[in-house]
Amino acid sequence: MRLEIAVLEGDGIGPEVMAPTLALLETLAPEAGVEFAFRALPAGAGCYRDTGEALPEASLDAARAADAILLSAMGLPDVRYPDGTEISPQIALRMAFGLFAGVRPVRTIPGAPGPLAGAPALDFVIIRESTEGLFASHGRGVVEADRARETLEITRATSEKLFDAGFAMARRRRELGRGRGLVHCVDKANVFKAFAFFRAIFRERAALNPDVAAETAYVDATALWMVQRPAMFDVIVTENMFGDILSDLGAGLMGGLGVAPSADIGEAQAVFQPCHGSAPDIAGKGVANPCAMILSAAMMLDWLGERRGHAGLCAAAARLERAVDAALADPAARTADLGGRATTAQAAAAVAAALTAQPAGG
Ligand code: ATP
Repeated sequence: MRLEIAVLEGDGIGPEVMAPTLALLETLAPEAGVEFAFRALPAGAGCYRDTGEALPEASLDAARAADAILLSAMGLPDVRYPDGTEISPQIALRMAFGLFAGVRPVRTIPGAPGPLAGAPALDFVIIRESTEGLFASHGRGVVEADRARETLEITRATSEKLFDAGFAMARRRRELGRGRGLVHCVDKANVFKAFAFFRAIFRERAALNPDVAAETAYVDATALWMVQRPAMFDVIVTENMFGDILSDLGAGLMGGLGVAPSADIGEAQAVFQPCHGSAPDIAGKGVANPCAMILSAAMMLDWLGERRGHAGLCAAAARLERAVDAALADPAARTADLGGRATTAQAAAAVAAALTAQPAGG
């Protein structure tokens, strides 16, 4: 099977972490039984500076037509729109393709110096609604002389799709032996009507998915529990802004942004990108951690495999994830963000070596 992958390598460390990721995908292609055609598409802050467009129409069209989209990081501190806001075509992509489910795995990786060192391993997933909530107001906020307003929006249609994605994810994690089949709806239903509405829809969808356990929690308590007793979570579904914040908390629990992958999934298309930004402070130095990008590519393989019923791709996803874990178990493969001294190239080479060292089919 030939798969066309749209590649948006973006700004800052984006190209530095994308290149080794594509090389690993090429290595995996034969055993996965696929052939990748990578199509590089211009987008991002550099593109805006050079052409006046952050996400050219041609890039958007090509991304729409691709089988999946890999995106590294976009934005540069000194390149902004005239109103001072950051260049963030990834938000435009979410809106253009209706990528409502922002999937953020929170998983302890051996060797990643998380703050919960010594605690049992973590493995849960946050699904952040990614097209509405408070971000529905993106670019539409009103600032007057002495007051400012942004409006939070929750719709029934998107909430239903979000919750169904949560129940499907919990079911799949249970099949894979990674979760116990539990979804938490995280909101602030005790204060805001919009969240009471959100929670009521969750209960309706839970009733239609009786094989998966359903619980609700307030976002403030969830932040506390993610630190104090994270093992209680399997799948969390939440509003956009809450998910934005909780997923960075999750990245912190994992040991940092350098190992935190993500996926933004819609009905017809999906974008896979690390949780981190373009890290301008370390760009060009060759020291960025490529693991978040590599793990995002693993999520892409799994999504493509599940969607197409292609077991080879799902197996390749699991292999790539295991290779990252195996590589990072050795301090010599850890980049500075993980307390090590490896360069991007050395970390990526360690992942490639771990991939080769895995027994076939293992
Ligand atoms: P954005 O708003 O675009 O998400 P940000 O301003 O939150 O970006 P990042 O660009 O993600 O921030 O960088 C935050 C910090 O984490 C920086 O100090 C950066 O160097 C570090 N960092 C981010 N990604 C990596 C990585 N892959 N490897 C090493 N350090 C990283």
